[in-house]
Amino acid sequence: MTKLQYAQIIVDVPTMQTNQPYTYIVPETMLDTVVPGMRVDVPFGHRHVMGFVVGLRATTDVDTEQLRSITNVLDMTPVLNAELLSLSDYIADETFAFRISVMQTMLPNALKANYERILKIIDDVNDDVRYRIFKGLEEITYRPQEIDPTDIATLTKLRRNHKIDMSINVLNRAKIKTQLAYQFTDDMEFLENDYQELNKAAKKQAELLKFILGHLGEIWIKKELQEIIETSDSTLRQGVNKKWLKKIQVEQLRDPFAMVNMPTTTALQLNSEQQDALDLILASADAGQYQPFLLEGITGSGKTEVYLQAAQHVFDQGKTVLFLVPEIALTPQMVRRVKSRFGAQTAVLHSGLSDGERYDEWRRIERGDVKIVVGARSAVFAPLDNIGLIIVDEEHETTYKQTDNPRYHARDVALWRAQYYQIPVILGSATPSLESRARAQRGVYELLRLTQRAGGAKLPTVEIIDMKETLADGPETNFSEQLRIKLKERLDRGEQSVLMLNRRGFSSFVMCRDCGYVPRDPNCNLAMTLHMDSHTLKCHYCGHEEPIPKICGQCGSNRIRYYGTGTEKIETELKSLLPEARVIRMDQDTTRKKGSMDTMLQKFGNHEADILLGTQMIAKGLDFPDVTLVGVLNADTSLGLPDFHASERTFQLLTQVSGRAGRAKKAGEVLVQTFNPQHYAIAYAKNHDYEGFYKQEMAVRHAGNYAPYYYTVQIQASHTEKNETARQMIQVARWLRSRVGDQVIILGPSPKPIAKLRNRYYFQIILKFKRRQELDILLVELQNRAQRTKNGLQLSIDREPISFM
Ligand code: ADP
Ligand code: ZN
Repeated sequence: MTKLQYAQIIVDVPTMQTNQPYTYIVPETMLDTVVPGMRVDVPFGHRHVMGFVVGLRATTDVDTEQLRSITNVLDMTPVLNAELLSLSDYIADETFAFRISVMQTMLPNALKANYERILKIIDDVNDDVRYRIFKGLEEITYRPQEIDPTDIATLTKLRRNHKIDMSINVLNRAKIKTQLAYQFTDDMEFLENDYQELNKAAKKQAELLKFILGHLGEIWIKKELQEIIETSDSTLRQGVNKKWLKKIQVEQLRDPFAMVNMPTTTALQLNSEQQDALDLILASADAGQYQPFLLEGITGSGKTEVYLQAAQHVFDQGKTVLFLVPEIALTPQMVRRVKSRFGAQTAVLHSGLSDGERYDEWRRIERGDVKIVVGARSAVFAPLDNIGLIIVDEEHETTYKQTDNPRYHARDVALWRAQYYQIPVILGSATPSLESRARAQRGVYELLRLTQRAGGAKLPTVEIIDMKETLADGPETNFSEQLRIKLKERLDRGEQSVLMLNRRGFSSFVMCRDCGYVPRDPNCNLAMTLHMDSHTLKCHYCGHEEPIPKICGQCGSNRIRYYGTGTEKIETELKSLLPEARVIRMDQDTTRKKGSMDTMLQKFGNHEADILLGTQMIAKGLDFPDVTLVGVLNADTSLGLPDFHASERTFQLLTQVSGRAGRAKKAGEVLVQTFNPQHYAIAYAKNHDYEGFYKQEMAVRHAGNYAPYYYTVQIQASHTEKNETARQMIQVARWLRSRVGDQVIILGPSPKPIAKLRNRYYFQIILKFKRRQELDILLVELQNRAQRTKNGLQLSIDREPISFM
């Protein structure tokens, strides 16, 4: 057999011209070492660059005289397997990105930066390795440039056989933090004695004591203890006084999910809807078929239990599971549930991990030590190689789309990987994206529906408050009388409330206080954005512009003006309305510090506050049993988004935040304040009617030529000179118009809502079209041209953009 001797390499030179594999010679000494997916050092022009080996060949049609050789192998094992290599091709094409950028994106940071890599002997090795390569030391720094290629081959083999290990030396290790914990006494007799003598009325103390008796001598972190038994700080203090337990400080684990004493859970008996859904998923898993399922289940319908049982089934087949969540920080309870079911075989890739810790998790996954990986967007690249099921929870969430290059959508990547492995994918949501729901309609996805709350809890009642009436006979306020009364009630009953100030997006628009009218542009029917500099309203799709109206176009009132307010102002108003209420304010300002959000949520969970006031970040995942009232202060902000998703986002947000009320035994109530009580997104959310909303919104999308009937692409460009950006974008639009028929709708160019950023001016063109292929060819050509002409214009192409800001 001929030895393979040519390598196809993608070099780390991110330009359009180099966005293809180059052929290099594999020197004889490296023949045993080099495999696809490894990084190598190669000469390129007058310098050396890093490159990824993407293929090996025995022959080449390139003139071999011209070819140069690989200088060094940088990895001992491939960092990308065959599947991920092929995935990188797909993503590059799909997102108009360079292959090298995609490959880099797939890897943990630790592998990108110049971290020091350490080789360590962990088992018996021969003397040659020990004394010549390791120079008699237990560990050495790995510098591939200084090691002979045949030695690299030896090391690779040793590593594969677990004789040596490679790790990353992270220099700036986080300081060790400590946290409050309790050590229980192990004196059972003493405790039993106290238990007998306890006053009958001391229920809380009895509960604590019973728990200690069941966990003699153990150490418990305070917050975890309080999660399991509802014991107050004062009960704990009494326990300490009575010597049942003592306070200690323990090292805080940086992984917030590496919880000690995690309670374990077992599968619940499914209800019939859950069982039907699970059966179909398992059938496709058993058949070894690619099949996407859209699991449309109302909040609290037990989607998670379906995920977990499907995962268990896949483990039993000896396969692994990839579980994506929108944002780990906002869904700690979901992670906890996965961990308490599957324990140490869970890897959690969350943003709180340092580069080194993330790399450790990555290696655990790559070595096959974990069965399930839970993580946000980038976890979709987890190097699992035997996936049996992929779960995308809250599939409609926009955080799944990366807004920087490469602009991939994790849901699409998940579908690609599922197709590769021929396995089922579960896309779960209470409010599926219109795109996904429409695909289910067409049979591309199989629709599974859960229509009942599983735990027996009822859906909260939702009441819509017309703010026009509140303002008609009183001063400007953010609190309707109904909301004030209900908040007071909760306060008197010792129950908790959540108040959401909708700040989705940060556009400003005008709204009539008398009739709720928001001016829309005549071409696109989208809310127009207020521009104080030019004193105009603008549509950011088509560029339509008009003066700010002095009177309302619908009712003639002169109370039409800017709409929007901040959480701080609300907090002040709240304090004057209910001075006795303890309020936690959660917004971008108060949660900037790492971990502060966690602390606030914990405080709220411990009843150290009565009202949690926050932006839409509080809508997700929170699960507090004593929250019986949810107030939405201003449903209109998201309706005023200059984007065709405005209604969809409003419906999603209202549904999600409503799901926060009445999670447990106590019934929940939701009040939604709005100037547009008749708007269909609000009305359907009130009735918990996703299907109704879906049907009506589809009709709206159809009429406006929007997704899912049309594809949308945003071309965005920036330049340091405003006029130059405009001029060149007009040329781009002209060029596009000359190349496509009138079945492609071209809008713009128009300045972006945030037109100037870091001294660059931004303009955009929106394309709407029905057939993808022909347009893709044009877009690639456009990108090529933009690269070639050195005119300072930075151009990017975004497929199905999630924001037009
Ligand atoms: P979702 O993910 O759809 O919002 P969850 O999975 O959070 O719903 O379920 C809501 C509650 O119902 C949870 O407390 C869960 O433990 C409980 N639950 C789920 N399935 C069942 C079941 N089959 N029987 C009893 N309780 C269930
Ligand atoms: Zn318009």
